[in-house]
Amino acid sequence: MKCDSEMYKRNRWVIGNWKMNSSLVANATLLEAIVAARDESSGVGASRVAVCAPFPYLTQLQRTLGGTAIAYGAQDVSEHTSGAYTGQVSAAMLGEFGATIVLVGHSERRLYNAETSALVAAKAAAAVAAGLTPVICVGETLAERESGLAEATVARQLAPCAALMASSPKNIVIAYEPVWAIGTGKTASPAEAQAMHAFIRSELAKLSAAAADISVLYGGSVKAANARELFSQSDIDGGLIGGASLIAEDFLAIVSAA
Ligand code: PEP
Repeated sequence: MKCDSEMYKRNRWVIGNWKMNSSLVANATLLEAIVAARDESSGVGASRVAVCAPFPYLTQLQRTLGGTAIAYGAQDVSEHTSGAYTGQVSAAMLGEFGATIVLVGHSERRLYNAETSALVAAKAAAAVAAGLTPVICVGETLAERESGLAEATVARQLAPCAALMASSPKNIVIAYEPVWAIGTGKTASPAEAQAMHAFIRSELAKLSAAAADISVLYGGSVKAANARELFSQSDIDGGLIGGASLIAEDFLAIVSAA
């Protein structure tokens, strides 16, 4: 278990990634339940809770979550500040809707949108420059793990963010999400996850003098049933939650576990 000094150095987070799911009506029910439960339990030492939704729902999040203890944001952001980039959304635009966090480099974007680690680092830098907290997602595929390349893959994904980690360690969050555990029902065991988190922390220490301040979250089929054990590992500072973040009862149980 973490000692208090460690807990307060790094923020604990539970962040929901809705992916391309939900609807205005379903969001309203989900958010109402989360806000009601959160208002009762938030306080000093409580985990930070956030949801990352598709862009069109930002006004709804602003209306529903503005002034509550729940942060919100998007699942991607442009590396550019403005200009002829059809279909892209800038970090400043997200900020106009009260967003404070944004996912970058989720494995689904690396896979379906061919995002490279250099692009992910540029997106993270654009987010920080606009005052947002990027949640930089890294993780190996099953083939990479089975070939003994898990750590090398994650180190390669983190490396382009070195400058940002050195300059703004308190403004970024890392999420370790083994690709083989996302949406598959397979979870890294607490020992496997802890081992990779310890490795990530040692890599961060090479990149930033303030590495100890960077929160590193685990993501990949986290559920109410496995959250407590995962989150009690010494280098795991909370979770990035996909499927289970769409069901209020499940998401809130995970928040309680953190
Ligand atoms: C995710 O999409 O970031 C994720 C971790 O998904 P799931 O929890 O469904 O595996």
